Amino acid sequence: MDRMKVLTGKRAAFHTLGCKLNFAETATLSDSLVELGAQVVGEDEAADICVVNSCSVTEVAEQKCRQFIRRFARRNPGALVVVMGCYAQLRADELRQMDGVSLVVGIGDKGRVAELICERFVNDAAEGFGCNMDTPDSHLATAFVPACSRGARTRYFLKVQDGCNYFCSYCTIPFARGRSRNGSIASLVEQAQRVAAEGGREIVITGVNIGDFGRSTGETFLELIKALDTVEGIDRYRISSIEPNLLTEEIIEFCSRSRAFMPHFHIPLQSGSDKVLSLMRRRYDTALFRAKTELVHRLMPDAFIGVDVIVGMRGETDELFEESYAFLESLDIAQLHVFSYSERPGTRALQIAHSVSPQEKHERSRRLIELSKRKLHDFYSRFVGTQRPVLWEHSAEGKPLQGFTDNYIRVTAPEDFSPNADRIEEFTLTSRILDNDA
Ligand code: SF4
Repeated sequence: MDRMKVLTGKRAAFHTLGCKLNFAETATLSDSLVELGAQVVGEDEAADICVVNSCSVTEVAEQKCRQFIRRFARRNPGALVVVMGCYAQLRADELRQMDGVSLVVGIGDKGRVAELICERFVNDAAEGFGCNMDTPDSHLATAFVPACSRGARTRYFLKVQDGCNYFCSYCTIPFARGRSRNGSIASLVEQAQRVAAEGGREIVITGVNIGDFGRSTGETFLELIKALDTVEGIDRYRISSIEPNLLTEEIIEFCSRSRAFMPHFHIPLQSGSDKVLSLMRRRYDTALFRAKTELVHRLMPDAFIGVDVIVGMRGETDELFEESYAFLESLDIAQLHVFSYSERPGTRALQIAHSVSPQEKHERSRRLIELSKRKLHDFYSRFVGTQRPVLWEHSAEGKPLQGFTDNYIRVTAPEDFSPNADRIEEFTLTSRILDNDA
């Protein structure tokens, strides 16, 4: 049967959990289904194909995936319910047991999801998809599957790298996404050129461990950003997140004098205690982290630095948490992204004897979120009354336009001011930005 015909008129709904990479991959799958004749609908609308792109980073993330699978199956009896992503890779057997799941796609087949969906329509649609009949091979992938998410917004997410070789003691990503691999610089520049041709102005460079870029091609992350910087039409790049040990002086220095890389960094620290960092098997210490943030500020005094932290890791005693808190308090950064440690089967962290109670994790989290609010408020306050370039983004009907400054301050357009979406304009920041520091 003609594959094109088999999906014509079929309605496809998506729900994505987890990281930006998952969102980029969902967008690419959605484009492929549309090319095959399907129509994309909202997740609350009736659908023939329901895709959950899953996440396994915590027990809560997995619970949410199961909720969405159930919801899709309940609302769309007879639909093909597909589960892909990290949870599908790590716990395919568990998902196969769930009522309503028709297809569990492992990472090795990530590039073939559209094809597998067509096959199921060709082979099984007449008798119904049944349960869990087909679980394609779930071996770890070695190929790089390109992805780029395009939304209604001005910002695009370009996947440049996948997988990770680090095996931090608390993390399952290397098991779920496989070894570090990447697209070639030439292919990524081409994708950025396509984004520019479609009218995109800003690209967020994403990956699992993007500083490790180049394992498959012998290229470097520095070479990648230098090449992307030359793409005409793209006015802004942001680096989604980069390990502190891989954020080299050369990369920081290049960003500070580049044409389009914004003064905005997102650096995962995870703990401000050297003892906990070593239990986590991270590849740096707090001194290195501080040195990197200081260099960023020396070269880009107005830069926004966001920092990931995990609280309640096994081995994080009260004393070590206080050490971590003091270090974070002393850092010149704009925001913390706080995550609670979640026990993940198969990780080395489970061998650490000391564990933190849920109440204590909650309390530590609360304190760090408070600290983050203070830091963000202080950061935003520094810029009230100053002028900065804002890229205005498309907004939902009837809502005021929003945008971001070069250094990632969220701005809402005042009622008496109607800037053009997709345009960068100098804008004087008023105290209204402080309402946005959530
Ligand atoms: S660097 Fe560590 S935390 Fe990040 S994906 Fe790799 S193993 Fe996981």
